[in-house]
Amino acid sequence: MAMLLGNRPEFVIALYAITRLGAVAVPVGIREQAPGLAYITRQSGARLILHEPSLTDILPPDVPALAMECGDTRKNLDSLAQADGSADFECPKDDDTALIMYTSGTTGQPKGALVAHVALVHVGAIYAMCMDLDAADRSVCVVPLSHITGITATLCAMAFARGCSIIIPQFEAEHFVRTAECEAMTHTLLVPAMYKLILDRVNLASYDLSRWRIGAFGGAPMPVPTIVELKRKLPALDLMNCYGATETCGAVTIMPAEHAEHRSGSVGFPVPGTSFRVIGEGGEELGPDQEGELCIAGPTVAPGYWGNPDATAASFDQGYWQSGDLGKVDEDGFVYVLDRLKDMINRGGYKIFTAEVESVLAEHPSVTEAALIAKPCPVLGERVHAFVSVPLSASCPESRELQEFCAARMADYKVPESFTIGHDPLPRNLNGKILKKELRKIFEALPSAPANDR
Ligand code: ATP
Repeated sequence: MAMLLGNRPEFVIALYAITRLGAVAVPVGIREQAPGLAYITRQSGARLILHEPSLTDILPPDVPALAMECGDTRKNLDSLAQADGSADFECPKDDDTALIMYTSGTTGQPKGALVAHVALVHVGAIYAMCMDLDAADRSVCVVPLSHITGITATLCAMAFARGCSIIIPQFEAEHFVRTAECEAMTHTLLVPAMYKLILDRVNLASYDLSRWRIGAFGGAPMPVPTIVELKRKLPALDLMNCYGATETCGAVTIMPAEHAEHRSGSVGFPVPGTSFRVIGEGGEELGPDQEGELCIAGPTVAPGYWGNPDATAASFDQGYWQSGDLGKVDEDGFVYVLDRLKDMINRGGYKIFTAEVESVLAEHPSVTEAALIAKPCPVLGERVHAFVSVPLSASCPESRELQEFCAARMADYKVPESFTIGHDPLPRNLNGKILKKELRKIFEALPSAPANDR
């Protein structure tokens, strides 16, 4: 069953009901557009879409849909039971698939990572134990529940700890901090951009955040100045770096707070049960402190992608998922994420696989080819800039036209925020591969950052 639902209690009710039934939940972000939703429901074989009542216009016509009203739990559960139609069900087994989590890929189409029931139990238990969470803990969840981090760090971990999760629909810095104070929050997991916005926009001294003891972060690197400022303003807060991915079902390393200062740049230790290999360019396994691709195995790692043997074979080998992250493991076992091998832009924790956006731009009638690069941003880390080549016979389209073209076909955070549009072909190497290094140099040489920043 596909779940096109935002952060609200009904998401949790639906998730538990679906997985308890032994059915498979397919969460979809509410920023998705019609083509993406149609692809995901078709590829996953979803027989029903539970959706926000306001999102009827993007629903595919060929899949039954059920609007989940707010606040009416009894009615929602009755509707769900009727829609499923099966009164008898078997309790799912450990290795059965609980979720299919779609993540964009290097080839353009999203891939559905398989998440087993046992992976969710394991990640919840390990996260809760590493963070020392218990029934007294109160977590404010603002990261999207449709992403693996929201499901694992807040739902699974807090369920294991028997603590309380307060779910809020969207992030606004002052509102988040006010909620943290009112709800006596002890734990949260945010992406680094949210911490930066809190520092920039909120006078923390005017709030009582004395109960807040754990500030987990993940999804992107946290700049050192942000860490330093947070420690200065909230000295009692333990900042815990968590590294993971959709394919690893959330955090596979956690940085213990007591080591953070002396291991700057590390994402921490592998969590119990997880092992890392660092693989060199020739496929050889590298030793401590040598840089290569981080490959990860363990009880939470996906067995592969749903209905996609080619993508599975390309990314998984003997139980190890090839992360596409360049990193190393030091002599003491601390893991470092140093760079990215995959062509992905990390916009405040939202991942944009460039191939997906480039292929949509290339469908525009005036565009020959397009290439995306990341442009640095002090708050979001990276933003999206597109180079677009237009045939000599056509006039150059406006940036806005291209943005509207993209916005109708993809989630809004993927839409390029600025463009360089011209008749020159994009620079390529002898094998015909677009040289993004060259494009980055051209971008840096531009007189000022192009307009259209959204
Ligand atoms: P979510 O799906 O909930 O957004 P996520 O960010 O952990 O969770 P993905 O969207 O699959 O998962 O992105 C995974 C990638 O994010 C990693 O391969 C890595 O490039 C980057 N990443 C995740 N955590 C960190 C971290 N703590 N530090 C640096 N990079 C990170």
